[in-house]
Amino acid sequence: MSKDYYKILGVEKSASEEEIKKAFRRKAHEHHPDKKSGNEQLFKDVNEAYGILGDKERRAKYDQFGSAAFENGGFNPGAGGFGGFDFNQGGFNINMDDMGDLGDILGGMFGFGGGRGSRQKRGRDLEMEINLEFKEAVFGTEKEISVYTNSACEKCQGSGADPSSEIKTCSTCNGAGRIQKAQQTMLGTINTVVTCPDCHGQGKKAEKSCSDCNGTGMQKKEKKLKIKIPAGMNNGEALKLTGEGDYPGAGGKAGDLYIRVKVKSDSNFIRQDHNIISTSYIPFSIMALGGKVDVETVDGPVVLKIPSGSESGSVFKLKGKGVPYLSGYGRGDHLVTVLPDVPKKLSREQKKILEDLQNNEL
Ligand SMILES: [Zn+2]
Ligand SMILES: [Zn+2]
Repeated sequence: MSKDYYKILGVEKSASEEEIKKAFRRKAHEHHPDKKSGNEQLFKDVNEAYGILGDKERRAKYDQFGSAAFENGGFNPGAGGFGGFDFNQGGFNINMDDMGDLGDILGGMFGFGGGRGSRQKRGRDLEMEINLEFKEAVFGTEKEISVYTNSACEKCQGSGADPSSEIKTCSTCNGAGRIQKAQQTMLGTINTVVTCPDCHGQGKKAEKSCSDCNGTGMQKKEKKLKIKIPAGMNNGEALKLTGEGDYPGAGGKAGDLYIRVKVKSDSNFIRQDHNIISTSYIPFSIMALGGKVDVETVDGPVVLKIPSGSESGSVFKLKGKGVPYLSGYGRGDHLVTVLPDVPKKLSREQKKILEDLQNNEL
């Protein structure tokens, strides 16, 4: 089956080498399997596409013959130069300058940290939803939430070691914290250095494991958190609580917790970015003659001056009565649309006045 490598990278057929490289980095980020939005198949496709399009000769061959030219061993990422990668005998080097932060991605993927220190096991990120009233979202609020997740064991503080136990050098890795391991990857067999599974990369181990967590360092429990929702959050936006996600066990680092905000609609107000919109029905005599009316805002009633001869549907701006900016500086505006309040019932007297008006050809 023929693959459209240009489409996979999302570039034109006429794309420059630089554009292809950029597109590759972006797509590799996007589909990286460690990410929430990640997709392993797409990640592989993107790598395959770059393996061809990132190489002048291969690209020319592909342009001429299509992907079929590479299907019978023609494209073998484990055997030759592969775009930005450089395969030596038994080794695997990444040109970090060329790859930018992609080195981190690949390093993360294969467990060798891209030469930037060993990779620590990281817990899953969690996400939960929180419901807010319209005004709570506008002005901010405090909420207590409870999350049921793996947390660091209280007794050993996540280390897995009995607090009274003697600490010894790990015999599996001889204190290095890492061991060699042959890994099968989509790029062929790669010898990688991985975190020692016995000491979780610490190089030392307690003689006695923590009895509360059996040495895992973690406990599944419900934890309560008080969270401060800042003023101005909008429906669908999320708050990140660093380190409040899943704890992966001894030697690891907790993931993050994302609180996604769901804002209830309000019967009076509609939010539009940082502005608040509402409609007020006011006596049509005021619209004709001018005057003052009370308008409900999120800060309570505000007096609005209506100029004489205001048309139905006129919009008036109440400056600074909208939603606060998340930065903490300033607020949007409140826009009020005025409509005439047409009386359903009229007294005899009122009817008479209106009839007189009508006879005067208003
Ligand atoms: Zn413990
Ligand atoms: Zn070890």
